[in-house]
Amino acid sequence: MTTKTEVIVIGSGIGGLCCAALCARAGHEVLVLEAHGAPGGAAHGFQRQGYHFESGPSLWSGLGRWPSNNPLAQILRALDEPIEVMSYRDWDVLFPEGHLRIGVGADGFEQVVQQLRGDAAVEEWRRFARTLQPIAAAADALPLLALPPAGINGLGPLLKRSGRLLPHLPALRHLSGAFAPLVDRQLTDPFLRHWVDLLCFLISGMPMADTNAAAMATLFGEWFDPEACLDFPKGGSAGVVNALVRGLQKHGGTLRLGARFKQIRLDGDRVIGVELTNGEQLDADHVVSNADAWSTAALLPEKGTSRWRQERLNTPACGSFLHLHLGFDAAGLDDLPIHTVWVGDWERGITAERNAVVVSVPSVLDPAMAPPGQHVLHAYTPANEPWEHWSGLERSTPEYDRQRADRCGVFWHVLEQRIPDLRSRCRVVMEGTPLTHRHYLSVHHGSYGPALSAARGLFPGVQTPVEGLLQCGASTFPGIGIPPVAASGAMAAHAITGKKAQSELLESLGL
Ligand SMILES: Cc1cc2nc3c(=O)[nH]c(=O)nc-3n(C[C@H](O)[C@H](O)[C@H](O)COP(=O)(O)OP(=O)(O)OC[C@H]3O[C@@H](n4cnc5c(N)ncnc54)[C@H](O)[C@@H]3O)c2cc1C
Repeated sequence: MTTKTEVIVIGSGIGGLCCAALCARAGHEVLVLEAHGAPGGAAHGFQRQGYHFESGPSLWSGLGRWPSNNPLAQILRALDEPIEVMSYRDWDVLFPEGHLRIGVGADGFEQVVQQLRGDAAVEEWRRFARTLQPIAAAADALPLLALPPAGINGLGPLLKRSGRLLPHLPALRHLSGAFAPLVDRQLTDPFLRHWVDLLCFLISGMPMADTNAAAMATLFGEWFDPEACLDFPKGGSAGVVNALVRGLQKHGGTLRLGARFKQIRLDGDRVIGVELTNGEQLDADHVVSNADAWSTAALLPEKGTSRWRQERLNTPACGSFLHLHLGFDAAGLDDLPIHTVWVGDWERGITAERNAVVVSVPSVLDPAMAPPGQHVLHAYTPANEPWEHWSGLERSTPEYDRQRADRCGVFWHVLEQRIPDLRSRCRVVMEGTPLTHRHYLSVHHGSYGPALSAARGLFPGVQTPVEGLLQCGASTFPGIGIPPVAASGAMAAHAITGKKAQSELLESLGL
């Protein structure tokens, strides 16, 4: 027996939930099916022994104030699902140059540059900031939610529609390329170049030569704002995911967990529905895949889609992750920062394996995430763990356990510099590898996402050669990260709900 729904969304990552909730808001019947037991994909939260652990994102911004150029903040507002955030203004770095506390925003960073590199480097940084300002303003004038579903390739109608873009025309040309040419023209100081490369890597999983200039100009645009801050959502990623699920459900949409797709069903070059691994068949007018490029291709029959399918299967992948999750005694650790970023050796390059670690202790800002007197910590090596080290191993074998303990040693090396007695404080210790990452996040090779260089073009758009089949999420334009995947979710929704609904959405947000 088959049942019919207007829109089926494969996967409940942030992109899929944004798409589903906006379709439901526009009056469509929507069903989201998620393989795992918790929604959120890379951004899901999970609990053990009273600690609320994070699986992925730690750096959030633009959620705590309005207006905001963060597409996720815009979608939450459209759904009337505000979230509570805790704002903060600095983070720690453990660099070869030393242990530094760096303020978010121009002033805080300039103080560090002054201290490390002197006046000339500060002046160089200011010049760079001035060059980026018009580019950031151009990116700001072009809200991603206003793009047609064809993405930046459909810019023609947008340009005709919006006089707001005209003052930014000279800067617009920079938005679709890589960031490195802009950096190369302005920055010679090695520390400044390393800093920019690190931020590019944290955003895209690739160095500045491959990272999109629009994404970086937007980030720096926010940071040069005198009111600049980062926002941690109350309850962590789960707080954001729950708000999106509420937005979906209050508009009549449904989320089903523990439902894994086996295939997308086609009739010729048109989608007609899906089949789950339990044999259940569902019919739909539209299917939106929030699964990654490789998994989406694997769900499609070869016939009729072979070229596009093969291109998706051949997509190069960013590296994977090592993870460490800890629950530990917080006594005497009053000045612990929410984030610490460690880089071992700049000369090895920012993409080198086990050379960079991100540490996040969300209970510093949101004590409810750990039992009283305790902290919860998530550390990860950001997209620099090669899949090849793990592809031949099986989880829970002695060889795997040995390699996991060995490679996760990098976390203890970093953390014990800050908390020497950390091991004896721990009540919960969980180490994860690319195999753990793939298991819980259902991503190809445990990857951060496609390694598509901005120097060679943009990520593929939401539309596919199969009528009725759309895609959204980190494998889709504008790319990896929470704000981009929220934008791609909105673009997939626009392709279903139509221009009128998109205009109404933009009007309701004043965009
Ligand atoms: C460790 C880590 C740290 C990060 N840090 C940051 C950060 O600080 N800031 C930031 O902005 N971004 C960060 N990111 C990136 C960001 O979290 C992701 O880009 C984003 O969450 C991906 O969302 P998505 O919409 O692509 O969906 P995904 O999160 O990839 O979710 C896809 C969903 O589809 C489901 N699925 C797949 N196949 C099937 C199937 N066959 N059947 C049913 N369901 C299926 C999966 O189970 C999953 O739930 C981080 C990512 C990671 C992993």
